[in-house]
Amino acid sequence: MFLSLRELELKKIPFALEIPPGTIEFADELTQASPIAVKGEAELVSDVLGEIRVSGKLRVTMEAPCDRCVEPATLPIETDFDLTYRPDESGEPVGEVHVSEGESEIGFYSGDGLELDDILLEQIVLALPMQKVCSPGCKGICPSCGQNRNFANCACESKPLVVKQFAAALQSLKK
Ligand SMILES: [Zn+2]
Ligand SMILES: [Zn+2]
Repeated sequence: MFLSLRELELKKIPFALEIPPGTIEFADELTQASPIAVKGEAELVSDVLGEIRVSGKLRVTMEAPCDRCVEPATLPIETDFDLTYRPDESGEPVGEVHVSEGESEIGFYSGDGLELDDILLEQIVLALPMQKVCSPGCKGICPSCGQNRNFANCACESKPLVVKQFAAALQSLKK
């Protein structure tokens, strides 16, 4: 959905959308596993400055390979956003500059408006957890034999190594 500056000069633009998977292109390892439910509004804050405020709430389920075992991890995302965009007159690449100003973030746009999809893409990526795991207790892949330890216990002895490393870490702490 395009948020046109000309339309915003006349009135606020409310939006309530369900965006099916495939509409927004995510990076390779990310899959959109549910429609994006988004609700909010866009308004022109200042006519003179051309400042556009976009605020709302979004909900989506994403999927990414688990950091530990590489099986698909389900990542439910629910986030609020309140963003301000200014016309880009600096000539710097759009989207590269981000200044935090109090509560809301300032972004830049060029041309005659903003693409809501681009904003959603950015907000979803920002809301992803640092640790993407299929479950908090994921046992990961065995470093010796490469077997997924969630499915089967391998016979590899990895314990002594861990204990050794732990002992070494303790030793270095004592020094
Ligand atoms: Zn996992
Ligand atoms: Zn193993």
